[in-house]
Amino acid sequence: MSDDLHGELKDPSRTSQLTHGAASSEPLKSRLIEPQPRGAKIHGNHPVDQSEAANRFIAAPEHEAMHDARLWDLRQKRDKEMHGIEEWEELRDLASQIKEHTLSNLDDYLEMFEKNATANGIKVHWAKDAAEHNAIVLDILRKHDVQRLIKSKSMLTEECGFREFMAKEGVEIIETDLGERIQQLDDEAPSHVVVPAVHKLRTDVAGVFARTIGSDPGNADAHYLTECQREATRPLILSAQAGMTGGNFVLAETGTFVTCTNEGNADLSANTPPLHIASIGIEKLIPGLNELPVFVRLLSRSALGSPITQYTSHFRGPREGGEMHVVLVDNGRSERLNMEKFWPGLKCIRCGACMNTCPVFRRSGGLSYGATYAGPIGLIIDPTYNLHKYRNLPYSSTLNGSCTNVCPVKINIHEQIADWRKNLAGQGEIPLVKKTMMKAAGEVLSSPHLYRASLPLGRSALRHLPHFMIYNKLNTWGRHRDVPEAPKQTFNEWYRKNRGKKA
Ligand code: SF4
Repeated sequence: MSDDLHGELKDPSRTSQLTHGAASSEPLKSRLIEPQPRGAKIHGNHPVDQSEAANRFIAAPEHEAMHDARLWDLRQKRDKEMHGIEEWEELRDLASQIKEHTLSNLDDYLEMFEKNATANGIKVHWAKDAAEHNAIVLDILRKHDVQRLIKSKSMLTEECGFREFMAKEGVEIIETDLGERIQQLDDEAPSHVVVPAVHKLRTDVAGVFARTIGSDPGNADAHYLTECQREATRPLILSAQAGMTGGNFVLAETGTFVTCTNEGNADLSANTPPLHIASIGIEKLIPGLNELPVFVRLLSRSALGSPITQYTSHFRGPREGGEMHVVLVDNGRSERLNMEKFWPGLKCIRCGACMNTCPVFRRSGGLSYGATYAGPIGLIIDPTYNLHKYRNLPYSSTLNGSCTNVCPVKINIHEQIADWRKNLAGQGEIPLVKKTMMKAAGEVLSSPHLYRASLPLGRSALRHLPHFMIYNKLNTWGRHRDVPEAPKQTFNEWYRKNRGKKA
């Protein structure tokens, strides 16, 4: 951002002159409320402690209640839409089969896309990992002498640490999605794949904007805040030399790609500057236009409970005098495709429905996962990027299966979470205390003799153990639970007494 613009935007009198947004609804004065809980603490390659960050989120009741309610509302709207479509389950089956078919023939479809896209005038690049992706994009930007790039929301660029990389290279990135822009200004990652700032109260946003663009810190009115951001960001968007988008669906047969947004921000990024770069994961391929409607019907209904996104834009080639580049990124996807149990995660269309329904996600916030992908989809994807760092994540689930039930492409999410737990155990990626406890429990539970012998001991321990042995800092189990009252007799004892036989 140029100094001139910074100076102009930080002048509070400028934002107080807003024309229609400020006047359109009654300004809401912010109250003194709890500060926004921050995400997981990251310590290099050490395992992320999701439960620690979740505890801090829960300790902020206003944020927790708002987050839970907002996401549950999305889940309910999704259900309503789903019930309005008789063939919903058929659509899910179809979507799953199309994805499975495409992934099984991915090399052919990728080549088909490259051939057809090139014929359309698109320059296609291949990136094996995040570093290569960033280098390719930087090279394109350097060739066009780009200092400012506008960009629509893309989880792939989060994976690649794109913003941080470009900041070091002196290229300014401006997010065009409002939620993503809020997160950028607050120096936070998106907390949700569809609604990146959903964990923030309006007063949090007012604080961020007051700090960064000079808006009134006491005015948390949504219209006012949106208008402030619009006025602050529009000049930056109009003066950018390049635009970047992702791509929700890549059509091999036509060599085209499709973006779905509600704000039209992908179109802004793609159409304002003459240079358009699209960074897309290789798993986004589908065969062609015949298959597209299946996903378009499912995506927005699953994500936000709306029949369709406001903008479903098809990109076919560069406009006259412009250039269009597509960077197809692997970054671990080929490896995942070879994982017998975990390849179905590649079917994901990033709708966020599994997050909206997950009781752990709703009550702990996406940033508590300390990874690019949060919630149920994150639990099954993140360990493929770094098993050690994300080894705790598959335990952040109740395994209730709700994520699997809502997934529009029928990914067996909860089964994969359970498989990850087995996988982690097999690879020794379990904390020592848990490992010791599970080993002891395994031995007791696998021996009827030991199991029966342990019951009186357990009952006695429940009755007589000193309080501090259960409720202490080391025993996380005891933090939010009351120990049950020990029964007078077990079912086994009752059965033997009343039926006279061994159970
Ligand atoms: S795993 Fe399924 S429900 Fe979750 S984001 Fe992906 S497509 Fe949506």
